[in-house]
Amino acid sequence: MRSYTCPVCGFNGLDEPPYDEYNIGSNNICPCCNFEFGYSEDHDVTLGYIVTPYHLIEAAFQLYRKQWIEDGMKIQTPENIPEDLRNGDSLKPEVLLKQLKSLNLDLNNFDIDGFNE
Ligand SMILES: [Zn+2]
Repeated sequence: MRSYTCPVCGFNGLDEPPYDEYNIGSNNICPCCNFEFGYSEDHDVTLGYIVTPYHLIEAAFQLYRKQWIEDGMKIQTPENIPEDLRNGDSLKPEVLLKQLKSLNLDLNNFDIDGFNE
């Protein structure tokens, strides 16, 4: 079965594409970062919109990603994440970096409190 990558945390293990061809969220929840596609971009980050326009969705991802990392990269459903990717219920920092690189994020400015490579 094909798996899809979470655009927020880079976890490659989603059953469905997070957004369809009309940019409608699947309402699935990433088992790693707990982002709900089609919900979290409007409700779990503060961009000032009632419904975040799709062209700003990357900003919503960035905000959510930062919050999630600063909160300790807590995995919502650890039983759905392979054990070698996590320390208990937190994603391993080196795994996070790998996942973020897979999203082609520029990590040169990656400077988040409490995070050491
Ligand atoms: Zn995720």
